[in-house]
Amino acid sequence: MAEEGCMLVMVIDFHPQLVLQGGAMQHYLNACMAFANTYLATSVKNRIAVLAASHKETKFLYPTVHDVGIERQKDGRLELLGHVNESIEQEFRSMIHFTKEDAKYTETLLSGAISRALCYIKRMELELSITKKISSRILIVKSSGDTSGQYLNYVNTYLTAQKNGTAIDVCVFGNDCGLLQQGADITGGVYHKVTQVEDLMQTLLLLYHADVKVRKKLNAPPPDSVDYRAACFCHRCLVDMGNVCSNCLSVYCKAVPLCSTCNVLFPSERPMKKPVKKKR
Ligand SMILES: [Zn+2]
Ligand SMILES: [Zn+2]
Repeated sequence: MAEEGCMLVMVIDFHPQLVLQGGAMQHYLNACMAFANTYLATSVKNRIAVLAASHKETKFLYPTVHDVGIERQKDGRLELLGHVNESIEQEFRSMIHFTKEDAKYTETLLSGAISRALCYIKRMELELSITKKISSRILIVKSSGDTSGQYLNYVNTYLTAQKNGTAIDVCVFGNDCGLLQQGADITGGVYHKVTQVEDLMQTLLLLYHADVKVRKKLNAPPPDSVDYRAACFCHRCLVDMGNVCSNCLSVYCKAVPLCSTCNVLFPSERPMKKPVKKKR
């Protein structure tokens, strides 16, 4: 069976602090929409889905449940592309009603959105398996913020993606994100950081447009060394050195008397036994 195009699921992070900035947000959203358009315009076999995550919910921006179908455009644009843009903008507006209160949240439900993306890919693969074979990948576009609180959820999604053969590409705007870097490395995706929001569209088009096979032929920037620190289960902070439960492999930043995951007791201070000398 011939390879029939690629399914790309974009997962976009709508961080409340970024959304409340206004100008930067518009750049960010425009870059994502332009990328989605270019990807669809490249080949008729390409398919796309767009998911968004805020601190309150995850939502499909395209395709949506109440999709009305493609309307005839009057401005000469390709109908599908116009429809994708409209759907994304409409759903995005219904999603962001953030107030100053929301700005204190530093973490979005990104790991939940990745899980939904994986489920969607699996469903599409099953639905299309009779007629065609599709390859799939996920692209995460994220503005900086915390992620270590959902450490386990992220790791679970990475391992699932790895098992399914779905690459996870990550484009971060702002500060580096160690956990997502791990995800890209585990699943064979690309990780790149952008410092200026104005550079986001260029980067998306240059680095993330090519599918995994084609990418090997491109001269991409060399990958950074991956920060493989784990987050402790007690405070959800990334630790350089920690204690690991010998029963379930939970990580703790300091010695604990009881494992909170599997309830195993750790005898903290064992009385030292004197070595018994063998009698000759
Ligand atoms: Zn801790
Ligand atoms: Zn344990």
